[in-house]
Amino acid sequence: MSTQYKTHQEGAKEFNKNPDRVTWHDKALWFVREKRDISAHSIPEWEELREIASQVKAHSLSHLNKYLEQFEENAKANGVHVHWAKDAAEHNQIVHSILEKHKVKNVVKSKSMLTEECGLNPFLNDRGIEVVDTDLGERIVQLANEHPSHIVLPAIHKKKEEVGELFHEHLNTEKGASDPTYLTRAARTHLREKFLNADAAITGVNFAVAETGGFVVCTNEGNVDMGANLAPVHIACMGIEKLIPKVEHLGVFLRLLARSATGQAITTYSSHFHRPAEGKELHIVLVDNGRTEQLGREDFRKSLNCIRCGACMNTCPIYRRSGGHSYTYTIPGPIGAILSPGKDLKKHSSLPFASTLCGSCSDVCPVKIDIHTQLYKWRQLVMKETNYEKSKQVGMKFAGKAMGSPSLFNLMGKVGNIFLKGPRAFIYNGLNAWGIDRELPVPTETFDDWFKKNEKKNDK
Ligand code: SF4
Repeated sequence: MSTQYKTHQEGAKEFNKNPDRVTWHDKALWFVREKRDISAHSIPEWEELREIASQVKAHSLSHLNKYLEQFEENAKANGVHVHWAKDAAEHNQIVHSILEKHKVKNVVKSKSMLTEECGLNPFLNDRGIEVVDTDLGERIVQLANEHPSHIVLPAIHKKKEEVGELFHEHLNTEKGASDPTYLTRAARTHLREKFLNADAAITGVNFAVAETGGFVVCTNEGNVDMGANLAPVHIACMGIEKLIPKVEHLGVFLRLLARSATGQAITTYSSHFHRPAEGKELHIVLVDNGRTEQLGREDFRKSLNCIRCGACMNTCPIYRRSGGHSYTYTIPGPIGAILSPGKDLKKHSSLPFASTLCGSCSDVCPVKIDIHTQLYKWRQLVMKETNYEKSKQVGMKFAGKAMGSPSLFNLMGKVGNIFLKGPRAFIYNGLNAWGIDRELPVPTETFDDWFKKNEKKNDK
């Protein structure tokens, strides 16, 4: 598996060793962000949709117990087996026991960040079950023995030439071939065989509807339908926050999801599942794994609104320039940085700092999560409850004092000016992270001097 870094800084440093990669990664994600903007602005009711979605989520989360029970009752009445898992270990056990009962050896799995979160693949592999990820991006990272670096575009960190090499090694494609159409066709042939031989299909869930007991899975490749319709057993794994009360709410979320994720008006396949086909079994595993705890944290419960569109990643200047693998949690980017501290504050203490707090993530979020405010609140908790970088604590205290005193602030400006005009070693040394990879402009005057001069001019 790809390296799990101890801190975001460590991972970002590694990613930044290849400036070309940083540039095209940044550009590729910004392109998706721009597509999202065009698509969102093409419908006048966009802001209204965001507001409705945010309110539906707030309502569902406040009545989660009621809707979960309603969902279970309706799903069971439809002939679906419903299971409850309090944590990742229980989730993996449940899935394994279903597979064991059916003597399953080959599983096809569609994209599911929940199963990543629970570490399902290695758990099943250790028990002699082959799990093939069938989303193209996920299959690429699986063959490369890596984690997804993005929740919608799992292999966005890889160039087509790298995918070509990988496919040559594993799928026997021509050496040096990197044409995306050629590679996609090879992947399709390879996956078709896996679909036809699968004993079971595992999928994620995008939305589950309490009033019907049904659920929806969105894909652009149709791999969910191939897996679930061919295999005799279908297991859908779902975080309990994915529930919405009524079918009429689905339209709101489906419109927001596709536009926010890739700029499409609608995802190519929005597959609805209600009951097992004749002679087949349909299971749904409802997973908590820390969600109830997060629900109890007033400042952070809104993070459970997330519909995993990835828009906050595409817009984040830090994510785009540090790559998804630099984060210490399964879900990277701004949303990962507010979900992970609730799981393990110490382990993920660097993530709330992987942000400029520019607020762009909150602006694009289709379900109006106040991401940058939560990042700021997690920072305060990290400082209070962990031993996070003492040097940062001292530095921040000093910065607070300087910014609270105009005379000290102006003095600091003057001192900074002297340093910036001084010998290069003042700024560009190993002790100053800002001097690494950055050529700072040489200042002509302090802001205070500039302001005083221009203030007088304007008064004339
Ligand atoms: S936090 Fe918002 S923008 Fe980010 S993935 Fe979730 S829904 Fe999308």
